[in-house]
Amino acid sequence: MTSFAAAVKKYETLCEQNDVPAETVMAFLVELSRQERYNLYMHYEEEMPAELEEQFSAGMERILKQEPMAHVLGYSWFYGYKMLVSGDVLIPRPETEELCAHILSRIDRYFPAGELACADIGTGSGAIAITVAKEEPRVRMTATDISAEAVAMAERNAALNEADITFMTGDYLQPLIAAGIRLDILISNPPYIPAEETMEHSVVDFEPHVALFGGDDGLKGYRAIFRSCRQVLKEKAMMAFEMGWDQRERMGRLVEELLPEARYEILRDMNGKDRMLFVYFGLDPDTQQNND
Ligand code: GLN
Repeated sequence: MTSFAAAVKKYETLCEQNDVPAETVMAFLVELSRQERYNLYMHYEEEMPAELEEQFSAGMERILKQEPMAHVLGYSWFYGYKMLVSGDVLIPRPETEELCAHILSRIDRYFPAGELACADIGTGSGAIAITVAKEEPRVRMTATDISAEAVAMAERNAALNEADITFMTGDYLQPLIAAGIRLDILISNPPYIPAEETMEHSVVDFEPHVALFGGDDGLKGYRAIFRSCRQVLKEKAMMAFEMGWDQRERMGRLVEELLPEARYEILRDMNGKDRMLFVYFGLDPDTQQNND
């Protein structure tokens, strides 16, 4: 038998020795206690109930081998919504919550009234599609993914969060083109890591490569979308993308080359890194903002 305090201390030390952030221990224990409706703070110096202790140490052993906490729990939190995850989908990232916040503020600015046809391309867990649909009731959301397993997971998440979303399986814009859908807003967090880039074990060993790697320069998905987006966008439309922190120059050139009539802006995330691309077609230039 161990107290909460002793168990946390033990695993924090093990984390430090295994190159896992020590904060993970408390974050994991808080989630487990929440599931059990157990008030951790009231009992922190007391003995852990046997069942909780078992769950906690079994989970921590996996986390010490670099397995993401979201996989051990089977879910993560995104914009206050619970999202089920597995090895079939990318674990939703905090940067992507920021993308959603920027999308929602631009909807208010550029599309102040009426219904909005919106699509999330490569939806994965469905985190972006669900959040935008829940937070902006005027949105009619379609979500696509090339992976049938990802679509199945996104459908479960939409049901869990009571979001009304139409799902389609297929490569980038193909399902939308086939269905003749026209959009006000196109959103995507495509794979953007260059093929040769080395990444942390916890990411490369556990998350789907189809959601991470975007060809030699990481821009394959953006090229595919930029080339065919006119077939699915209305005349007045907005596109919103997540992008890699070191892609500003190449991304700017790509937009100027493939979408010369559009205006665009690249925004930084809370860590000051270039992270989001917004592209505007036929929208009022006076309301354009630039954060450079
Ligand atoms: N942000 C993710 C990572 O760095 C990558 C997401 C993506 O490729 N779209 O692990």
